Amino acid sequence: MRVRAQMMMVMNLDKCIGCHTCSVVCKNTWTNRKGMEYAWFNNVESKPGIGYPKEWENQDKWKGGWTRINGKLELRAGGRGRKLASIFHNPNLPTIDEYYEPYTYDYQNLVDSGYKEATPTARPVSMITEEKMDKVEWGPNWEDDLGGPFEARSKDKNFEGVDKAVYKEFENTFHMYLPRACNHCANPACVASCPSGALYKRDEDGIVLVDQEQCRGWRFCVSGCPYKKVYFNWATGKSEKCIGCYPRVESGMPPACVESCVGRIRSYGVVLYDADRIEEVAATAREEDLYEAQRDLFLDPYDPEVQRAAAEAGIKHEWIEAAQHSPVYKMAVEWRVAFPLHPEFRTLPMIWYVPPLSPVQTQIDQGTLPTEDDGVIPRSEAMRTPVKYLANLFTAGDEGAMKGALDRMIAMRSYHRALNVDG
Ligand code: SF4
Ligand code: SF4
Repeated sequence: MRVRAQMMMVMNLDKCIGCHTCSVVCKNTWTNRKGMEYAWFNNVESKPGIGYPKEWENQDKWKGGWTRINGKLELRAGGRGRKLASIFHNPNLPTIDEYYEPYTYDYQNLVDSGYKEATPTARPVSMITEEKMDKVEWGPNWEDDLGGPFEARSKDKNFEGVDKAVYKEFENTFHMYLPRACNHCANPACVASCPSGALYKRDEDGIVLVDQEQCRGWRFCVSGCPYKKVYFNWATGKSEKCIGCYPRVESGMPPACVESCVGRIRSYGVVLYDADRIEEVAATAREEDLYEAQRDLFLDPYDPEVQRAAAEAGIKHEWIEAAQHSPVYKMAVEWRVAFPLHPEFRTLPMIWYVPPLSPVQTQIDQGTLPTEDDGVIPRSEAMRTPVKYLANLFTAGDEGAMKGALDRMIAMRSYHRALNVDG
């Protein structure tokens, strides 16, 4: 057993209010420089929606992450062994339009605009058919204000298998936020993609970094990362990514996004895991078993054997202690209410999410929240977010696991409500 310590984050999606404070704090700290105008190490997506960059989840299009070929783990776009010619042409890079074109807003426009009968507005997505979708002007969080019918938002990959009738019932009402950052994955595709060996994962805390001296600007990390969380700096000609706020972490502080979060949705802590089993898990687990297999990698921090092995591996005493009090271990492993985002990408991401419950409160009180699919669920009885949609986000489509977690959360909420409100 080779024990490693890893900084891990769990975000409770029910609590995210989409204020974007985390993104702005991160931007002002790390990417407020020339060449990085379009880059958001942390961004908050409107879901359902196609995300930033557009359709980043669609690996048929971007060929990011890992896949299994003949029982072996391979980069979807090919690894370091790719032909030299392909190094000079990387076809899987998003364009600036797929991120967004940054501009400086001239506030004088507000002063000069004068009185208008109707304020200017963009064309609502609800007026756009699927065929016209590609030609539509778009920006991050477009779906927030401009919603739209199933046809227009169906490019969101997470709708696969969702009953259209269920969606129709809740058209324009089903909504959630998904904050995203680099996952500092245990099996990072960005690291494996780099022909120059510029990306590396730190042994001491699992933070993934780009060595700016080594980077030659090939951008295979940009295409290799299935979460599209590496960005090319057009001014320096080097790739950049979230640095896990390592200067803060090294001095005992949480990352800036965690500290500034208005909704207090982010928990942050140390977990211990068995690094010897990473490749085996990433290569052999079935897609729908990956979240569970990754959970099994986390070592019990209360086990004296694990503590001894961690100390022998050189992990600091205070970190071993911190792992024992870690809220992220509790949510991911003990309570089993947190899941990795798109585990099927096989990078073993280290940001996990508590899915949004968002049910009708009276239903929880009555204990009548449905957990079985039975066609169209009447409005009064349904959860707002289709379980299949959440399963596609977090459990590679396994609805049973998602329902189990939601049921546990409902029980927990009812218990605390009884204690604090009714009692
Ligand atoms: Fe690398 Fe981060 Fe992408 Fe994981 S999420 S592959 S660590 S850039
Ligand atoms: Fe959500 Fe917190 Fe970011 Fe606000 S600061 S958008 S609540 S994650």
